[in-house]
Amino acid sequence: MHIEKIRLKNFKSFGKKAEIPFFKGFTVITGPNGSGKSNIIDSILFCLGLSTSTKQLRAERLTDLVHNGRSEAEVAILFSENGKKYEIARKVKITEKGYYSYYYLNGKSVSLSEIHSFLSQFGIYSDAYNVVMQGDVTRIIEMSPFQRRKIIDDVAGISEFDEKKEKALEE
Ligand code: ATP
Ligand code: MG
Repeated sequence: MHIEKIRLKNFKSFGKKAEIPFFKGFTVITGPNGSGKSNIIDSILFCLGLSTSTKQLRAERLTDLVHNGRSEAEVAILFSENGKKYEIARKVKITEKGYYSYYYLNGKSVSLSEIHSFLSQFGIYSDAYNVVMQGDVTRIIEMSPFQRRKIIDDVAGISEFDEKKEKALEE
């Protein structure tokens, strides 16, 4: 499973429609400071509902993700898996009454939990380390060995069993 393409419309600095191609294996995005590289990563977290707070998307509110002065932003991610194509999209609309957010899976309107359960079959979880943000590496380096061990246990899937063991011992 890999991302083939991201389509952005009015998302953060992307005022025009933009399509970003990704290659199987490795893709590097370069550009000057402030040109929108991290905004692309934010668009992935936003679209897949992987962030627990808009702070992780470097925005105060969801409406800050909409390009200045526009009323609607949209991000669509096209995945490819053994020749099969999937598309996840998310929209945020600003109206006079407030703002609304919608998720779509292959063009059909779905809930966030349906997006999460779809992604889980590919090992993508909101509390995992599928996306490493700018600053995360420094944060991990500066952690105490104990805190770092906790992350390794999380990634290796050991924490889940530790929690189950603790629960079992309590019973
Ligand atoms: P660096 O190399 O410094 O990490 P970067 O390429 O990662 O830079 P980003 O952080 O992705 O840059 O982009 C920041 C830019 O996005 C800022 O100039 C900011 O004004 C712009 N931006 C963020 N939200 C919006 C918005 N809603 N409308 C318009 N521009 C926005
Ligand atoms: Mg950046």
